[in-house]
Amino acid sequence: DSKRRARNGWQDFSQALAEQQQHRLQMETHLRRAVDNREFKLVYQPQVDLVSGRTVGAEALIRWRNDTLGEMRPDHFIGHAENTGDIVRIGGWVLREACQQMRRWRDDGLPIVRIAVNVSYRQFLAEDLSETVAEALASAGLPGDALELEFTERVLIEDAPDTLSTFAALRMLGVVLSIDDFGEGYSALNYLRRLPIHGLKLSQLFLQGVPHNGSDVAICQAVAGIAQSLGLGLVAEGIENEAQRQFLIRLGVHIGQGFLFAPGLAPEELALRIQREHESTAHA
Ligand code: C2E
Ligand code: MG
Ligand code: MG
Ligand code: MG
Repeated sequence: DSKRRARNGWQDFSQALAEQQQHRLQMETHLRRAVDNREFKLVYQPQVDLVSGRTVGAEALIRWRNDTLGEMRPDHFIGHAENTGDIVRIGGWVLREACQQMRRWRDDGLPIVRIAVNVSYRQFLAEDLSETVAEALASAGLPGDALELEFTERVLIEDAPDTLSTFAALRMLGVVLSIDDFGEGYSALNYLRRLPIHGLKLSQLFLQGVPHNGSDVAICQAVAGIAQSLGLGLVAEGIENEAQRQFLIRLGVHIGQGFLFAPGLAPEELALRIQREHESTAHA
């Protein structure tokens, strides 16, 4: 009897495994065609001045909607796309789309300085990323400093042969370079000296416990200290409440993003927000 239960347990387990495998294959099949089928879009989360609340830039975040699979958040499919290699094509689309959107905003006279785009470590391994970026900028007629690239510490452990020269080339273009989710990964502080980066993004992982969790507070303070002593910019993300905003201001962090201010917005929503901010100062 217990034998049968064990056998049933095993069957349940292997069936669950098969279903999971099935789902993965299905997702990968759809993922392969998603760029061509125009299933992706970008939303833009405002990056704001923490004191005034004014929008200074925005981060492009990918969204995927598929007729069979429905809507999916990036955490559900970016990993798969990295495993299959599809992220290279998807990432190229993201870069071009974000640059084209920036072009449209500028043509409309919208005072938005910069747009941040996430890049995967696979994009560094698979291609000359600086060429892809240069092409996206050129075809939108944008200067390099209109674009910021966010990459995670994963780029550094994968250590492609020409990571350093790619960074140098991107910097030559004028592109702003940041390390996303700083502190979550493999933080060898050594690379902060070697790489020509401009800034860090404090992982929202550590902000979650602020202000009540003592070690989260200490980690945030340490990251702010590292950024300050190396002359790097620091952007906070995942700001959800007023206490966190006040904490960051006291810490000397000026720029941040989070649901306290706004989630990812459609392009026209972001434009409206910036126009309103502009009008309210013009009339003040
Ligand atoms: P990330 O780059 O660290 O982006 C921040 C994530 O936190 C976003 O999730 C954003 O919607 C979410 N977020 C923003 N404010 C808050 C807040 O106050 N509280 C909480 N709990 N969350 C907040 P999203 O859009 O689901 O993206 C998840 C991750 O997927 C991103 O993390 C990034 O690593 C990756 N990703 C998104 N778009 C792209 C892309 O175009 N290319 C690549 N390679 N990765 C992307
Ligand atoms: Mg990011
Ligand atoms: Mg992040
Ligand atoms: Mg993240």
